Amino acid sequence: MVVSPPNPAIKKMPDWQAEAADYLWSPYTQMKTTPLGLPAVSAEGVTITLSDGRKLIDGVSSWWATCHGYRHPHIEKAVIEQLQTLPHIMLGGFQHEPACRLAKKLADLCPYNLNHVFFSDSGSVAVEVAMKMAVQYWLNKGVAGKHRFLAFKGGYHGDTLATMSVCDPEEGMHSLFKGAIAEQIITDIPHDKASQLAFDTLLESHKDELAAVVIEPLVQGAGGMLFHDAQALKAIRKSCTKHKVLLIADEIMTGLGRLGHMFACESARVEPDIMTLSKSLTGGTMALAATIASTNVFNAFLSDDPEKALMHGPTYMGNPLACRAALASLELFESESRLKQVKNIEKQLKKELEPARKIQGVKDVRVKGALGVIEFNKLDNLNHIKHRFVQEGVWVRPFGKIIYTMPPFIIESEALSHITAAMIKITKELATDKP
Ligand SMILES: *Cc1c(COP(=O)(O)O)cnc(C)c1O
Repeated sequence: MVVSPPNPAIKKMPDWQAEAADYLWSPYTQMKTTPLGLPAVSAEGVTITLSDGRKLIDGVSSWWATCHGYRHPHIEKAVIEQLQTLPHIMLGGFQHEPACRLAKKLADLCPYNLNHVFFSDSGSVAVEVAMKMAVQYWLNKGVAGKHRFLAFKGGYHGDTLATMSVCDPEEGMHSLFKGAIAEQIITDIPHDKASQLAFDTLLESHKDELAAVVIEPLVQGAGGMLFHDAQALKAIRKSCTKHKVLLIADEIMTGLGRLGHMFACESARVEPDIMTLSKSLTGGTMALAATIASTNVFNAFLSDDPEKALMHGPTYMGNPLACRAALASLELFESESRLKQVKNIEKQLKKELEPARKIQGVKDVRVKGALGVIEFNKLDNLNHIKHRFVQEGVWVRPFGKIIYTMPPFIIESEALSHITAAMIKITKELATDKP
């Protein structure tokens, strides 16, 4: 029984897709009503090729991961070499060159005292590790009762049960999953002086039970591409320090150049106690994530007491292939001046998306680094909009009330114009579609 409708963009589904139509369960997808995903067969640079030969420009870097485009030869070469030497080995009881080199490289690259790198295999798990680390930090220091978290409306930190508890209450489905996920304190980002004062009071009243505050610095991504300024972040840091609560910066989206700096917390001059990275860490080659702790946090785990060790260890943590891909990816930031490319993308996005502001139904247009957002008063029929982008030869996936692009950093200005032109064109169509 085939439940999901075929994708209207594809005339003839390849056999391998048709045969699996009932078996492959798609993410965030109502399988009964949503068309099956597009059959992709290859990708290179910024271009994805479909089974029928059509090509799409990837406007979202495959969930924000392929920052150097697909199949960058420098990463490909490193991974092939590693595949033929040591594709995998457990990190329990062993160490290997790629993990050692990558840990050292990340410690050098990360700002402040963020020096101690714990690897895992997905962003959600990296945040889980950060949360666990924060709780145990206080236990190891002999402070009892600090096991809850404060996070923000509009935040997104992953899909596992613990990370759902620190997501936006609606997006994290807090009422649907009531009882299954922990109840944390969720509040607004304190944008102005008055709310910063209120935030400080809130933190003070909960300080004895709070292990950490969790935030995506400067831009909340999957919650709607919502921006806040460095001042808000500084106020949060100040209150955390004052009331002895750790600060976790989830840089899984914002980190590694996306917003124009290597790290958002560095550009805001705010020092987190723990930072998480994933998404583009391997340049979109392999699953890898890192939880990076300050020396202060790390030191709380050093003891003669074995129970004070961090009791965590994903099977594939520090996978050599992934670490090699990440090392090669980080090298490209230096050898191919990525941050300069991001600056150029920012300029072009500002120029080419700004006209959308005048179109009926558009609430806001905002750009930071290689991220461009058109926010609408409301967006209906997302499947239709996605389909329209495919017809325009562009892979862009609107969600909530926004249409956004996060292109690979290597995108040429012509291809970027193709994306922004499609965004403007479809925004205009949505305005005229209105009754
Ligand atoms: C994507 C994302 C995560 C979750 O990462 P997964 O690899 O999908 O588990 C966590 N935090 C932020 C900020 C993200 O953007």
